[in-house]
Amino acid sequence: MVSRVIPVDVFDLVIFGGTGDLARRKIIPGLYRRFLANQMPEDSRIIGAARAALTEDAFREQVRAAITEFVPAERQEAAAIDAFLARIAYVAIDATGTNGWATLKAMMRENVVRAFYFSVAPSLFGDIAQRLSDHGIADAWSRIVVEKPFGRDLASAKALNGVLARHFTEAQIYRIDHYLGKETVQNLMAVRFANILFEPLWKAEYVDHVQITVAETVGVNGRGAYYDKSGAMRDMVQNHMMQLLCLIAMEPPYHFDPDAVRDEKLKVIRALKPVSAENIVRGQYAAGEKEGGYLEHSENPASKTESYIALKVNVSNWRWQGVPFYLRTGKRLRARASEIAITFKQPPHAIFDDAKGWHENVLVIRLQPNEGMNLMVMIKEPGPGGMRLMQVPLDMSFAAVLGDQADETPDAYERLIMDVIRGNQTLFMRGDEVEAAWAWTDPIIEGWEARSDRPQVYDPGSSGPEDALMLMHRDGRRWREIKE
Ligand code: NAP
Repeated sequence: MVSRVIPVDVFDLVIFGGTGDLARRKIIPGLYRRFLANQMPEDSRIIGAARAALTEDAFREQVRAAITEFVPAERQEAAAIDAFLARIAYVAIDATGTNGWATLKAMMRENVVRAFYFSVAPSLFGDIAQRLSDHGIADAWSRIVVEKPFGRDLASAKALNGVLARHFTEAQIYRIDHYLGKETVQNLMAVRFANILFEPLWKAEYVDHVQITVAETVGVNGRGAYYDKSGAMRDMVQNHMMQLLCLIAMEPPYHFDPDAVRDEKLKVIRALKPVSAENIVRGQYAAGEKEGGYLEHSENPASKTESYIALKVNVSNWRWQGVPFYLRTGKRLRARASEIAITFKQPPHAIFDDAKGWHENVLVIRLQPNEGMNLMVMIKEPGPGGMRLMQVPLDMSFAAVLGDQADETPDAYERLIMDVIRGNQTLFMRGDEVEAAWAWTDPIIEGWEARSDRPQVYDPGSSGPEDALMLMHRDGRRWREIKE
C-alpha cells in the first residue's frame, strides 16, 4: 500500500532548546523521518536555538548524533542525513537577555511559515514570547508550540495564557499534548464517528464502565527533583488522561474541525464531578532489588508526592449518568502498557445456561505497546457437548492489519509538528480547555493536601497499591491485568 502524503508549505522552524533532551530524542528524529517522507519542502529550514555558543557545524554534529541514537538503523541513510543536515542552522540566543535576537530576526524570511517551538523550561515561555514580539520576529502568520507542563494549577495556567495572549492570538498557539498525536488516539475518533456500529451503544444504557490505564515500568530516576513538585495527578491525569477521557466521552462534533472538536472536549471537562476522598488512591513505590524507592530519588525524604494514582470519575451529563470512569497511572508498575477499555453491559436476558463462560463485551483500545484495537466477543466453544460459551478477541492489531504501512506511521511528535506547519489545531489543547482541566484538578489536590494524606506504599513490579484494587472491587468490578 502506498501511503498518502499531504504536502506542507515551506517553513522555518525555530527550536528554542534545540540542544535539549526533548529536541534530541523526539523533535529532531521526528523531523528527519518527515524529511525522509518528503514532507519537508526544499528551502525549509530547522533553526536550533539555545544559549550555548555553538558553530553551525557543531550543532549539525549534535543533530547527526541524535539521528544516529534515536532513529532506527534501517532508516539512517548517509546521503539523506547529509541532505537533512544541510537544512539545519543554529543561533546562540538567550531567552532572558538580548543576545542573539537581532541575528534571529535577520535569519527570518518573508512568505514562509514561521514556527517557534518552545522546547525549554516553562519559566522561559513568557520571555521568549515577549522577545519574539518585541523584535518583530513573529509575524501574523507565525505560530508557537508550547510544551508541557502548561502551568501547575489554575492560577499559573491562567497567568501563562495571559502572557502568551499579549503577543499571540489563540489561533497561533499550539499547546502540545503528545498523546493526541498517537495514531490509536485518533483512531478512537475514527472508530466512534466513522462507523454506525459503536455510537448507538456509546452511552449509559449499554456501557457498564470505562477503564483508562497508563502504566510505566520506569521510576523517576534522575528526574526526582522535577517530579516531586508535580506527581502523577499533575504529570499525567490533568493532561494526557483527561484528553483520553474527553475523546471517549465527548459528543460527536458537527465536523472534524479544530474548534468543533475542542468545544465538545471542553463540555466533557466541565461536566466532570468533583472527586471525593474515597474515590482517590495515591501510591508511592518502594525500593526494589536493583533500584531505590521513590523517596530515595526525591530531594525530600518525607515527600508525599504520588508516583501512582487511581481515581473513580463521573461525567455528569445525560449520556454518562451512572457510568464510572476508572483512571490509573503510575511508575515502576508491572508492565509498560497504556490502554482504554470500554466494558459493555451484559445482555438483559441470558438464554444459555453456561454461566461459566459468561462475560461482557469489552472494546480495548491499545495505545502502547502494540497499538491497535480488540473487541472481546462471546462465541460458542467449538466442538460437541452442548452450548458452552467463550470470549474471543476480534483483533485489529495495526501491525497485523496494516503491514508495512503501520511501520511508516509517524510518531506523535512528527505528526503534531506537521500539523503546526499546516496550521491545523485539532490535536492541540485550547487555552480554555487547559484552564477547565486545572479547575477540576485543583480541588482534588487541595483536598489531599489539606488532609495531609500519605500515599500508600506499593511494591515495584506490582499493579499498584492494594487500595486501588478495592476501588473497583467494592463496585463489583476489577481492573484489567496490566500486561504488555
Ligand atoms: P533540557 O534538556 O533541560 O533542555 C533545555 C534546553 O533549553 C537546552 O537546549 C538549553 O540550552 C535551553 N535553554 C536553557 N535556558 C535557556 C535560555 N535562557 N535561553 C535559551 N535557551 C535556553 O530540557 P528538555 O527535557 O528538553 O525539556 C524541554 C521542555 O520540554 C520542557 O518544558 C519540558 O517540560 C518539556 N518536556 C520534555 C520532555 C522530555 O522527555 N525531555 C517530555 C515532555 C515535555 P542552553 O543551556 O545551551 O541554553
